[in-house]
Amino acid sequence: ILYNMVQDLKGNIRVYCRVRPSFTSGSSNAVEFVGEDGSLVIVDPSKPTKDGRRHFQFNQVFGSTATQEEVFDHVQPLIRSVMDGYNVCIFAYGQTGSGKTYTMSGPSGGSAKDLGINYLALNDLFQMSDRRKDVINYVIRVQMVEIYNEQIRDLLAEDSSTTKLEIRSCAGDDGLTLPDAIMLPVTSPSDVLRLMKLGDLNRVVSSTAMNNRSSRSHSVLTVHVHGEDESGGKLRGCLHLVDLAGSERVDKSEVTGDRLKEAQYINKSLSCLGDVVTALAQKNTHIPYRNSKLTLLLQDSLGGHAKTLMFAHVSPEEDSVLETVSTLKFAQRVS
Ligand code: ADP
Ligand code: MG
Repeated sequence: ILYNMVQDLKGNIRVYCRVRPSFTSGSSNAVEFVGEDGSLVIVDPSKPTKDGRRHFQFNQVFGSTATQEEVFDHVQPLIRSVMDGYNVCIFAYGQTGSGKTYTMSGPSGGSAKDLGINYLALNDLFQMSDRRKDVINYVIRVQMVEIYNEQIRDLLAEDSSTTKLEIRSCAGDDGLTLPDAIMLPVTSPSDVLRLMKLGDLNRVVSSTAMNNRSSRSHSVLTVHVHGEDESGGKLRGCLHLVDLAGSERVDKSEVTGDRLKEAQYINKSLSCLGDVVTALAQKNTHIPYRNSKLTLLLQDSLGGHAKTLMFAHVSPEEDSVLETVSTLKFAQRVS
């Protein structure tokens, strides 16, 4: 009954790249070619190879015209494997403004159109649950937290600013690494929209107080799926949907105080994430999960039988080319 619909892709880590549409019609574009086979060509005038072109290869590349549905089509098999008891982790990586939140949540401003992976994934889980309801009874619940300066905050809590959460370094019998975070059952798309609004609200509140904090923190939506069949057989799957903090380098000579501290925390946690995923891709015996809150929190969904997908987001504009190349190199390293 619990068949696995995921194609057997090489290894458990895959990397997709998504290029956001250009905003400035006049300025030149650094993205020269997006191939259906996952190849991508960037023109980098600052560091000419032979002809100024850099070639990259990923499992998939989505150009600026790709719709949310087209992107989701390539994510759906992973999402569905959660219903079979797999743990899955999906990350959005890239500089601020490259489209991470668009891919995970949807357009800025909370439009009800073009909703992203978070919404489409939960919707798909509901449909799967319904389709299998004669054989398995599923319960779907969510947690939503943010990691800011190595502190974890509950985005579903009434007063999220005062509650600091601790990670259990290994999931308990309940399968939870954040036992104290609020966990809410969801059964319909409207439940999900309501929760997403609540989470966004909690993030927005702090971002006005603190220098666009939402791009300086990692947000993690975790979906817990429990299933039980008629003979009492149980399964458990978990899906982490992660909108990472902006990966851009901050000029250390220009920032001081809180901004510098923020930047250091972000650099450290993103490089820890890179180290963990690289170690997994190389099948190393030691995986350095403990070096950041982010990797510790996601530990059960990285490695082992878990499936990991990283979206490398890039801005097409030529003036972003340095960050673009740095994002693509990061993504290349883990694939
Ligand atoms: P990030 O989260 O990486 O900082 P955003 O997702 O906020 O970036 O994207 C920056 C802006 O570009 C937003 O206004 C967003 O709605 C828009 N945008 C990003 N990606 C796309 C896309 N694929 N299609 C249309 N608009 C997009
Ligand atoms: Mg964002």
